[in-house]
Amino acid sequence: MDIHNVIIIGTGPAGLTAAIYAARAGLNPLVVEGLQSGGQLTITTEVDNFPGFPEGIQGPELMDNIRKQAERFDTQFVAGDVDKVDLSTRPFGVWVEGKEHRAQTVIISTGASARWLGLESETRLRGHGVSACATCDGFFYMDKEVIVIGGGDTAMEEAIFLTRFGKRVRIVHRRDELRASKAMQQQAFANDKIEFIWDSVPLEILDGGSGIVTGIRLKNVKTGEISDTPCDGVFLGIGHTPNSKIFEGQIDLDESGYIIADKGKTSVTGVFACGDIQDTEYKQAITAAGSGCMAAIEAERLLEAEKFAE
Ligand code: NDP
Repeated sequence: MDIHNVIIIGTGPAGLTAAIYAARAGLNPLVVEGLQSGGQLTITTEVDNFPGFPEGIQGPELMDNIRKQAERFDTQFVAGDVDKVDLSTRPFGVWVEGKEHRAQTVIISTGASARWLGLESETRLRGHGVSACATCDGFFYMDKEVIVIGGGDTAMEEAIFLTRFGKRVRIVHRRDELRASKAMQQQAFANDKIEFIWDSVPLEILDGGSGIVTGIRLKNVKTGEISDTPCDGVFLGIGHTPNSKIFEGQIDLDESGYIIADKGKTSVTGVFACGDIQDTEYKQAITAAGSGCMAAIEAERLLEAEKFAE
C-alpha cells in the first residue's frame, strides 16, 4: 500500500486550498471528496464576498474553479466518504468506503452542517425562501419580512445581519429566554427592526401553493395556539453540527464537537484541521480557505523538519 505524504479529508474551500498548497509544495496530496463534494458552498447561490470576483460568483461555480485549480497541480482525488480513521500511530489510517489509505500527515476539513428542523416544507422550499445562511442569502431580502428561527448566537447574528436588508426581522424562539451571549442579546434587543416571538416552534413553512415562501405556521408551546405569520423568508439559526463524529476519542474536541486547533495544529502531531470543523467564530469561505493554506504549510513544515531529523 502507498504511504502518502498527506491525506486531506473534505473538499470545501478549506480542503481544496490545502490541496493547492500541498500539491504546489510537491506533497502529492490524496484528497477524499466526501459525500457533499464541494461543501456548503454548493448549496448556496450568489457569493458576493469572496475576493477576486467583482460581480460575485455562484457558490457551485466557485467550488468548481477551486477544484480545477487543485487538479492543475499533482492532486489525486478519491470519491466517497471516510468510514473510519486511525490517528493513534503514523502513518495514519484513513478508510474510504472500506478501502484503507495511509499517510504521514492528515488534514481534516470535514466542515460543519447547518442544523435543519426536519420539516417537509422546509426541505421543499430550501433555496426558495428557506435558507440557513444569512450572509449568503440576506441580500435577496431587501425591504422584505424575514423570520429567523433559534435563540443562540447564530440566530442573533443572522437576525442582526438581516436587518441591513429586511423591513422587519422576527426571531422565533422555542423558549422565553435566549441562549445567546449577553452581548449578542443586547445588540438584538437594541435593534429597532428586530422583534421576538417567544415560546413558539414552527409547524410548517407556507407557500400558498406558489413554491416560494409566503409565511410560517407557528405553535405557541405554552398556550397551544396555532397561528400563521406572513413572511418572505425563513432563516434557520438553530446551530451547526461539526462533522467530527469519526474523530471522537482520537483527537481533542471542544464540548460542541469542534476540533481544537491552533494554526491548524491539533492535539495529535501530524494531524491538522482547517475550515468550519475548527471554526466556531467566522465560518466564512475565505477564512476557511485561509486556514486550509495554514494547515498545508504546517504539514509541509512538519514533514520537512522530520526529514532533516532522520
Ligand atoms: P446553539 O446551540 O448555541 O443555539 C441553538 C439555538 O437554536 C438554541 O437557542 C436552541 O434552543 C435553538 N434550537 C435548537 N434546535 C432547535 C429546534 N429543533 N427547534 C427550534 N429551536 C432549536 O448554536 P449556535 O449556532 O447559536 O452557537 C454555537 C456556538 O457557536 C456557540 O458556542 C456560540 O456562542 C458560537 N457562536 C458564536 C458567534 C459569535 O461569537 N459571533 C456566532 C455564532 C455562533 P434552546 O435555547 O431552547 O436550546
